[in-house]
Amino acid sequence: MRSLKIGVLALQGAAREHLFALQKCGAEAVLVKHGEQLTELDGLVLPGGESTTIGKLLTRYGLADPIRELAASGKALFGTCAGMILLARTITASEQFSLGLLDIEVTRNAFGRQRESFEAELVMPVLGEEPFCALFIRAPLVEKIGGKVQVLATYGGRVVAARQGKVLVTSFHPELTADLRLHRYFLSLALEAEKKAGGPFSFERYEGD
Ligand code: GLN
Repeated sequence: MRSLKIGVLALQGAAREHLFALQKCGAEAVLVKHGEQLTELDGLVLPGGESTTIGKLLTRYGLADPIRELAASGKALFGTCAGMILLARTITASEQFSLGLLDIEVTRNAFGRQRESFEAELVMPVLGEEPFCALFIRAPLVEKIGGKVQVLATYGGRVVAARQGKVLVTSFHPELTADLRLHRYFLSLALEAEKKAGGPFSFERYEGD
């Protein structure tokens, strides 16, 4: 039985840390720079970085439509920080590019200068009882969410993790801390997509190291 093959968009930003986290979870993980690589994937991670730069490169290299097609074919997507901005429907007071695959409005760098980078213990019921230690780095904030969006975590009353269908986003960086539960959760979504496509997988592969 083959393991899930997950791409990590590697145009700019923190791609390698996601690659290692996915590999630790038992997935085959590859860095993605070209649209044609997307057709063979079971899911894609859009990492943190600078969303304006990643957005420009996405359109320049013709990756936007292949990513939208990946989502339309029921594959899982995971956007962290800048990746969340790139998946959002709307970016507050900005004309910059986004893929519009999740019905949320986000504000960039929303936690202010005093709190450019910080850690917080988040309650995330989908991950179990133990809080998730979340690292925020010049993080975006979710201002508005559509009716089909499921809130997975809040911080100070604001949404910082959410999911719509197989599209998962966090305003923080789970790839920079040791807790693999969010990557495992993402792989479980990718697995659901694969099951629908008829793949012979078992979820148990991703439980525990
Ligand atoms: N501030 C960045 C942006 O707006 C995101 C920061 C990050 O990904 N850590 O694109």
